[in-house]
Amino acid sequence: MQLQKTFSYIISSSILKDISLDVGEVIAKKGLKASRKDCLDILNIYGISSLEDFKDKSVKLTLFYIVAALKDNLITEEEIKNIRFLKLLFNIEEGDFTKEKHFANEVSKIIRTQIYLMHQDDDRIDTQEALHKVNLQEVFGLSYDEFLFLNNQEALDAIDRGSDWLEMDTYITVNEYSQWAKKNNTGEDFETETRSRHISEDVKDSVWNRDGGECVQCGNNENLEFDHIIPFSEGGANTKRNVQLLCQRCNRSKSNKIG
Ligand SMILES: [Zn+2]
Repeated sequence: MQLQKTFSYIISSSILKDISLDVGEVIAKKGLKASRKDCLDILNIYGISSLEDFKDKSVKLTLFYIVAALKDNLITEEEIKNIRFLKLLFNIEEGDFTKEKHFANEVSKIIRTQIYLMHQDDDRIDTQEALHKVNLQEVFGLSYDEFLFLNNQEALDAIDRGSDWLEMDTYITVNEYSQWAKKNNTGEDFETETRSRHISEDVKDSVWNRDGGECVQCGNNENLEFDHIIPFSEGGANTKRNVQLLCQRCNRSKSNKIG
């Protein structure tokens, strides 16, 4: 989504009133050449002396652009550049999108929709989707924990809709899942029944094919074992992405390092 085009749209549709329109006009005209001084000059006309006093509206303008950029559920390099530019222009810092409740709700809704879409196709997160997550976290200036919280909320909802969490490749912690199970009276004894180390034959087949039937570390093709990359004990899933082929020797030396 082109920056200028988006701001021309803001102006033509009068989504934001008064000063925002004038600031929007500068961006629509100058694009990435607009400067903080251009904005301050306009704010001064309205008797506003700092970007801080314009924060609410500048956050809204930037959010508007992000929403426009996400219309195709992707964030391109160009869009990231534009978002970085807007943040720089308006002096938007980490946490500004989540400080005010109405923005925080909006951001949470956007992120959860994006994560919902990722789970919708196959309940697995592929490389492109993982990158999209990283971009979302950056774009909204969220800490890792804040992002993880929103991510997990959506993952729990996916389970509610009937997804098999063992195949989801998310980072739901043992604790979160057991709370969810309790709340929903699933009657599952989490530790002993639900969470099993079992790797399905399907996953084993595709890991074997992906890793070419040899140890991914030393190339040995004898005494091979299926290894959890993130250890099972630390919440690692039984998914293709978290399983690899290791020979017994490499697997033991990995366990010793972690253990
Ligand atoms: Zn090996």
